[in-house]
Amino acid sequence: MSLEKANAIVIRQADFSESSRVITFFSREFGKFSALAKGAKRLKGPFDAALDLLSEGRIVFIRRPAGVLNLLTEARLTTRFQPQQPGISDGLLRMYAGCYVAELLNGLTEDFDAAPEIFDLATALLLGLSTPECHVSALIIHFELSLLQLTGVLPDLSGCAVCGGSVEPSGRYVHWVSQGGLLCQNCRREEYSGSSVSTGAVEILRRLTGGTTDLAGRVRLTPAQAEECHRLAVSAVSHILGRRPQTLRYLQFSSHH
Ligand SMILES: [Zn+2]
Repeated sequence: MSLEKANAIVIRQADFSESSRVITFFSREFGKFSALAKGAKRLKGPFDAALDLLSEGRIVFIRRPAGVLNLLTEARLTTRFQPQQPGISDGLLRMYAGCYVAELLNGLTEDFDAAPEIFDLATALLLGLSTPECHVSALIIHFELSLLQLTGVLPDLSGCAVCGGSVEPSGRYVHWVSQGGLLCQNCRREEYSGSSVSTGAVEILRRLTGGTTDLAGRVRLTPAQAEECHRLAVSAVSHILGRRPQTLRYLQFSSHH
């Protein structure tokens, strides 16, 4: 049993008893972990807004052996996730985007597997979602690709996975989901299931891979580009997750900007 301190984002809340919750955090120091927050459901509880979904804060917890719930002792809010504010017309979409990010962090990472780059990526993304000048679709696609890259499962977008041919300007490709790559026209076969993707989308995906969240947020995509790029990123994410993310159904880029 040891007392630990961490910078952490709340990525999940679950009721535990009449007054307590189990909070799942994604922290800079320890990666993902859950802790029991006693009294968290009381109106004037000891942790206040620090345990709202996607709040970022300084926390102190008692770490227990694997299989035993950790115990939260302190939580102090440092940054509140507030995308619904004056100057932002698609605040609700940004709120849903935040929920989607929380689901991916929870689903694609392991307990106590420290990954400070993923924490920094997540905090930059939450900041971008709260910044009026940043576009939601490019931010989210950048996050999906970066998370896949940091966990080592980003599809290879450099060329055809079978013949090695580079991506041609006028070509159409198929995203070969199970092998994490692209297939050119010559190499595609009926039995390799995957969705079609244009060279233009591959270029955008490459551009959004690497680079900072802030830069990605300045990229303005047409609804059609956003839809095509997001579809490929989601099929890669769903393959790793073993299912489609549940919060995805609220995240429709086509009717927004
Ligand atoms: Zn090929």
